[in-house]
Amino acid sequence: MKIKAAVVNTKGGPFVFEEIDLADPKDDELLVKVVASGICHTDEFGRQGGINQKFPAVFGHEGAGIIEKVGSEVKNFQVGDHVVFSYGYCGNCAACRSGKPFYCDHYNEINFGGTAADGKSRLSKNGEDIAMFFAQSSFATHSVINNRSAIKVDKDVNLEIAAPLGCGIQTGAGTITNIIKSSINSTIAVFGMGAVGLSAIMAANMEHCKEIIAIGGNSKSLELAKELGATHTINRKEVDDIVKSIHEIVPGGVDYCIDTSGFGPMIEKAIKASSFNGSIFVLGSSGIIDSFNIGEDILMNMRTLRGTCEGECIAQVYIPEIIRMYKEGRFPIDKIITVYDFEDIEQAFKDSHDGKVIKPVIRISK
Ligand SMILES: [Zn+2]
Ligand SMILES: [Zn+2]
Repeated sequence: MKIKAAVVNTKGGPFVFEEIDLADPKDDELLVKVVASGICHTDEFGRQGGINQKFPAVFGHEGAGIIEKVGSEVKNFQVGDHVVFSYGYCGNCAACRSGKPFYCDHYNEINFGGTAADGKSRLSKNGEDIAMFFAQSSFATHSVINNRSAIKVDKDVNLEIAAPLGCGIQTGAGTITNIIKSSINSTIAVFGMGAVGLSAIMAANMEHCKEIIAIGGNSKSLELAKELGATHTINRKEVDDIVKSIHEIVPGGVDYCIDTSGFGPMIEKAIKASSFNGSIFVLGSSGIIDSFNIGEDILMNMRTLRGTCEGECIAQVYIPEIIRMYKEGRFPIDKIITVYDFEDIEQAFKDSHDGKVIKPVIRISK
């Protein structure tokens, strides 16, 4: 079928609205009318070349919409169901078979390889392939996705609010609830007050962490962090020594540091701000750090430094949980979302880059 998509034709290029072709869903796939899509920094990472990114490409990996067609082997979805999209995984490797799809052997090729899990793109123009993103490409009026990556949500849930749950929000919140499994007495510092960082703050608040320290460079976002549950805020532009400031709040350092800034020097501070036997989680693409000492900073302090994606969430389990908590007023995702019309996608990216908005969401259809 013909669809309208925001196509990026060259590395770093603009979004161009084009009519392109979308293949019919295969036996295990769904055709979904996209209602809304969140914008995540990973979309910009892809637009700027990402991991061997192919062009032309249609980005977007926080889609949500309404099912219009169901493949013949799909039993758990029907036409008219409302769904949120999440990351792709193969469903067959040892990790997927062990109930850990976030460790899928094929995670990078499925989500960044430009095709669906079978190695073929569902998008084309004049017979030439267009690269997919996260096997969904949600900056378009329609998307074909594998049913494994769809999460059914109640029809009374606003899809503009639910769309970003499929990546950014579950990444931040899931790190707290699924990986740290923090207790009432934990102390946490979150670096970077974008959607991922603020989602981590909301989850830490829900888990009743003892001290929740928000570190960022935007006073408005830090105020919001406080509203969402941070016990302390540190404006990196106003203090000389972030590590010292954290140690003043929690002598000896915090149990867990979460970096969402994706900025090497900030990760170095996170390492030094964590306690003896503390853990540092890296959630953003982070460049190079050249001035920390593995012997002193990691070994002698028995710290753990690890990268993690998607909050290690099984999206089908976790997203309905977040929606329930949102409905109960305990996880106010709407406070971080700004909705833009599809035509204003370029502006939404710019506002996100400039720190004017935290989580832009594109409204694609009603
Ligand atoms: Zn797998
Ligand atoms: Zn993302």
